[in-house]
Amino acid sequence: MADVVIVGAGPAGAALAYLLSRRGIGVTLLERQSDFARELRGEVLMPSGIDAFEQMGLGEAFRALPMARPRRLGVHLNGRFVQHLELPDFVETAPHIVSQPAMLEMRIARAGAFPSFRFLRGQSAAELLARHAAQMGCSCETAARSARTS
Ligand SMILES: Cc1cc2nc3c(=O)[nH]c(=O)nc-3n(C[C@H](O)[C@H](O)[C@H](O)COP(=O)(O)OP(=O)(O)OC[C@H]3O[C@@H](n4cnc5c(N)ncnc54)[C@H](O)[C@@H]3O)c2cc1C
Repeated sequence: MADVVIVGAGPAGAALAYLLSRRGIGVTLLERQSDFARELRGEVLMPSGIDAFEQMGLGEAFRALPMARPRRLGVHLNGRFVQHLELPDFVETAPHIVSQPAMLEMRIARAGAFPSFRFLRGQSAAELLARHAAQMGCSCETAARSARTS
């Protein structure tokens, strides 16, 4: 049985799952989507986000992900081009554009190296609770579906 159940394998849930699993804490991570590309997230990572990977001991794995570093940004106002902005050419301040699905899969793969970690993909917490409630003779409804027993 898990010590901790985390609902949602977004950046926060996946990072927490990795950090707890690394300490030998039993973690079950639930993610309702079967594919990370189905959840819309931005892909611009600022230096503080990159530093978080370093602090978690995942700096090397992070640098191996598919990413781009823009050198120049175009500013548009009301659909009209205004000007280009040159970005500083050193890593400390430059944002990175990183594939979010790849970043999440990496964290989960790293957590999966620990035997105390379990990942349930395509599993909604609400549906799981409704199923368990139904098994115990309760009747409840979620937005997604209803589960009833008499
Ligand atoms: C359009 C857009 C653009 C953005 N651009 C950027 C950007 O460029 N840079 C940046 O740093 N941030 C950006 N953000 C913000 C960034 O996406 C969030 O800060 C970040 O995703 C929050 O992470 P999280 O783990 O807290 O939550 P989420 O990323 O929302 O993850 C929550 C996860 O929980 C799952 N979930 C929810 N309910 C259940 C349930 N009942 N059962 C199981 N699983 C469940 C969801 O499927 C999801 O995967 C953007 C956000 C949006 C919407």
